[in-house]
Amino acid sequence: MGSMADYQTLIYYKYTKLPNAEEFAQEHLQFCKELGLVGRVLIGYEGINGTVSGTKEQCRQYMDHLKHQPAFEGITFKVDDVAKFSFAKMHVRFRDEIVAFDLNEEEDVDPNVESGQHLEPGKFRELKDRDDVVVLDVRNKLETDVGKFKNAKTLNIDQFRDFPQHIDELEPYKDKKIIAYCTGGIRCEKATAYLKRKGFNDVYQLNGGIINYYKKTGGEDFEGQCYVFDRRITVNVNDVNPNVISTCEVCGTETTKLINCANPECNKHFIICENCANEREGCCSKECQQHPRKRYYDGSGFYMKGLETLRQKEQEAESWP
Ligand SMILES: [Zn+2]
Ligand SMILES: [Zn+2]
Repeated sequence: MGSMADYQTLIYYKYTKLPNAEEFAQEHLQFCKELGLVGRVLIGYEGINGTVSGTKEQCRQYMDHLKHQPAFEGITFKVDDVAKFSFAKMHVRFRDEIVAFDLNEEEDVDPNVESGQHLEPGKFRELKDRDDVVVLDVRNKLETDVGKFKNAKTLNIDQFRDFPQHIDELEPYKDKKIIAYCTGGIRCEKATAYLKRKGFNDVYQLNGGIINYYKKTGGEDFEGQCYVFDRRITVNVNDVNPNVISTCEVCGTETTKLINCANPECNKHFIICENCANEREGCCSKECQQHPRKRYYDGSGFYMKGLETLRQKEQEAESWP
């Protein structure tokens, strides 16, 4: 029977040189499958970035396995107890970069040697409101629309690889301490390395990102919700002074609900309230609502290959005596 804390989800990354990344990705997939894990892992020449979930024992074995390889020495895992598997299948994919930044060879940064100084959450909370500090959100517009730190500088970017094009906007802050943050820390490693490369001298990053800040401090002054990359879509990360900063695209009421358009060819990610979402059957427009391949809207607005199989598995597990 599935109950809270039978399973765990591990979130982790490590920038480390993997010259045989393609080969390693195949071996790693094999290993994860044999262990019985599910999840999504990216492997590139610059390192590893993953979210996996399994039983506590499977997760323990997985962490041991990685920690004992010299390339992953010092890797840290964010461990969450969960009631259910977060994924339907195990994917390990090879990519040129584990976080796409698309810089040419001369401009490319190495987070292991160049990135900004890591700030622990407590220290971040202490510094964030000072006059000589700029708190910089390096995430995408959709993410910052639904939640961000109070007074944070946000960038109007659709994807992280657009970050370098927006660096001119930060020129006025060149004499200040810049403290960057993202969801779990992986994007900041690159963003802060790039800032330093471009002549920003006093550059820091929130260690472990928003998620770690929430765990260590309770999340004071994070406004709205935190976007996450699994079926939960957004999560609360503030138990101290939570509020809502986003509004329904259709009617303007306050809401933190975020869905994918039910038209598979549109799939737009957008903010919409419960009522409007039901009325529009999970679609972003009247046109999408007419689409012949429109998917069934179950109230979650989250569509994933294999989600049906996952739900079946869970039902089976729950019906065991
Ligand atoms: Zn609405
Ligand atoms: Zn649409």
